Amino acid sequence: MKSLLIVCDGMGDRLTNGKTPLEAAKTPNMDYLAKEGICGIMDTVGTGVRPGSDTSHLSLFGYNPFEVYTGRGPFEARGAGVELKKGDVAFRANFASLRNGMIVDRRAGRDEEGLEDLSKELQGMEFDGVKVLFKRCKGHRAVLVLRGKDLSCAVSETDPEEVGVVPNKSKPLDKDPKSVRTALVLNKFTEKAREILDKSSVNKKRIAKGKLPANLVLARGCGMEPNIQSFEERYGVKAACVSATSLIMGVCKSLGMDVIEVPEANGHVDSNIGKKADAAIKALDKYDFVFLHIKGTDEASHDGNFAAKTAMLERVDKEVIGPILNRVDLKNTTIVLTADHSTPLRLKQHSADPVPLCIFGDVRTDDVSKYSERTCAKGGLLRICGRNLMGIILDLGGKSKLFGA
Ligand code: ZN
Ligand code: ZN
Repeated sequence: MKSLLIVCDGMGDRLTNGKTPLEAAKTPNMDYLAKEGICGIMDTVGTGVRPGSDTSHLSLFGYNPFEVYTGRGPFEARGAGVELKKGDVAFRANFASLRNGMIVDRRAGRDEEGLEDLSKELQGMEFDGVKVLFKRCKGHRAVLVLRGKDLSCAVSETDPEEVGVVPNKSKPLDKDPKSVRTALVLNKFTEKAREILDKSSVNKKRIAKGKLPANLVLARGCGMEPNIQSFEERYGVKAACVSATSLIMGVCKSLGMDVIEVPEANGHVDSNIGKKADAAIKALDKYDFVFLHIKGTDEASHDGNFAAKTAMLERVDKEVIGPILNRVDLKNTTIVLTADHSTPLRLKQHSADPVPLCIFGDVRTDDVSKYSERTCAKGGLLRICGRNLMGIILDLGGKSKLFGA
């Protein structure tokens, strides 16, 4: 038995004019899954807990985020292709613009000119025996990794997340000498980077063209590379991930999953999700467990765009679920369709509302015949916690261990 877990990011919602986007969208293939499968709702991290996408995915994969999660940084770093070592401390970073000591733009005007060259100028720094790795990601984003002995992620961020203020100095958040040392190194890097960037000819050119300089690196989302048992060690199954979102790819890499990149996919509402479905279907030949992540649903939710979210759900139905139903060996595959959290359009942010869940395979079916939040709530799975999902998937796949005699 194989397993395919499909997660539409932020799919769950509340009512807009009496309907959720899932209720308003035409989704015959999802409804088929619901009719032939068993449904329920799920608190991905815990009842009343408002999850991030990283913590919710850890939980869906059966890990306790309250134990293993320290921050977003390491997952972003891994997603960006930085290989981390135990004890590394990682941050998300931004190129920003500083004028007269004040932050005038946290994203350097979202202008990418010369950022690749500026990144090169920031390589190879070391302070107090701590190596600094800096890697540019898409747009103005980057990741910053501190590598050395005795580091800690109990330090404050240098990014004040507002403009018109001076950048924060990182401070230790506890009395541990490791935190003191980490904050010191981060501040030294920030100072040195500012000096280098200010002098760079790239910024002189940007300013001459009337653009904002990219003369500051702001760091946030500190986390320490978690000491996590790999997915394969834990469950004895080989797993692959299909996602175009660096954070989620990073979570999967931290769990030792193989990440299959689909160059045509971009993680937005206009992503080529059909190609992702193709990749996931193909991966089922080689892997026991395939995880397919679709981001566009969350993007439309953060924009508060009902039409875009509904349209995205219809695209998922037609371009992802349809081909999967047609081409996957349904007799030998458990298919799970769910979300990592709700992102209600009205809130434009994640909420603790439970998400719809459907499991299709060798299951006891129920009376649910439409895939939505409210119909799934009437299903045979009732309301479960995200951390229990893997147990159910493994059991249906014949890969669970007997507890007791
Ligand atoms: Zn999410
Ligand atoms: Zn989101």
